[in-house]
Amino acid sequence: MLEKVKELISEVESAVAKTDQEVENFRLKFVGRNNVINDLFDEFKSVPSEQKRELGPALNKLKNQAQEKLKELSNALNSQSSSVSDVDVTLPGTFGKEGSVHPISQTKSRIIEIFERQGFNVEDGPEIDNDWNNFTALNFPENHPAREMQDTYFVEKNPDILLRTHTSNVQIRLMNKKKPPIRSIMPGRVYRNEAISARAHCFFHQVEGLVVGENISFKDLKNTLYHFSKEMFGKETKIRLRPSYFPFTEPSAEIDISCFICGGSGCKICKQTGWVEIAGSGMVDPNVLENCGIDSTKYSGFAFGMGIERITMLKYQIDDLRLFSENDIRFLKQF
Ligand SMILES: [Zn+2]
Repeated sequence: MLEKVKELISEVESAVAKTDQEVENFRLKFVGRNNVINDLFDEFKSVPSEQKRELGPALNKLKNQAQEKLKELSNALNSQSSSVSDVDVTLPGTFGKEGSVHPISQTKSRIIEIFERQGFNVEDGPEIDNDWNNFTALNFPENHPAREMQDTYFVEKNPDILLRTHTSNVQIRLMNKKKPPIRSIMPGRVYRNEAISARAHCFFHQVEGLVVGENISFKDLKNTLYHFSKEMFGKETKIRLRPSYFPFTEPSAEIDISCFICGGSGCKICKQTGWVEIAGSGMVDPNVLENCGIDSTKYSGFAFGMGIERITMLKYQIDDLRLFSENDIRFLKQF
């Protein structure tokens, strides 16, 4: 009988189960109600007592081992089946689609970074403002033809309230609340009532800069924009100032940079001129300073403004403004 017990112990030890049925077969044989071990215990009662001393512990060992083994087989099968059905570790991983920063936001961040290193801070203001902040304080008198340069969206029933046509309203608000020295840039979205095309849109983004203090001269304006142009478009970049007109600056100048595509020899981007326009600028008109309660005999300042879309289009050679607001992933994921 001892031989039989030892045989069963080794059978239990080496048992494997690949299916639920095999686990069940093991259970029926060794643990179930009519299991083989119970039969042996029955037999045990009638063996001579000198055999019992060795047989007893062996039987108990068999019984315990069978119970342990059953748990082990059943656990192994469960974890195996869940890993087979839920996770195949040999498959490539799946990842969520990663978004990217919109090119306009990227350019805006880069512009802010360049000016912040020149000591500018960032100011913000409302997109809906009144006529005073958007036009009158900026030296656009009522019925002045300069207002027609910027087709404006007015809020219905109140012609005094409008969607800002430029971020210059933030300059007025800033000068009203803060006295010189001022050294700020104002990025933001602006609106104009224009037909949408590859070159024009009813909304776009600007960054304006304003510096007001004592002894601020045209030289400071030029140096600031020269530094910006080199940082933004490369060390070799040259700038050129052309006389221009804006109601809020006097004198005024358009800023051109040497074409960074052809290096000045002429190409499609610069229309064969070797130069591309990037900004408008000028010395703040004394009337504008006075409108904000700043003494124009003591302080002077310069201002500049550029379109973020325009800078982005130049930098990445994009030829259609509409791409920025169409949310076409094929376009956006290139940045
Ligand atoms: Zn060129």
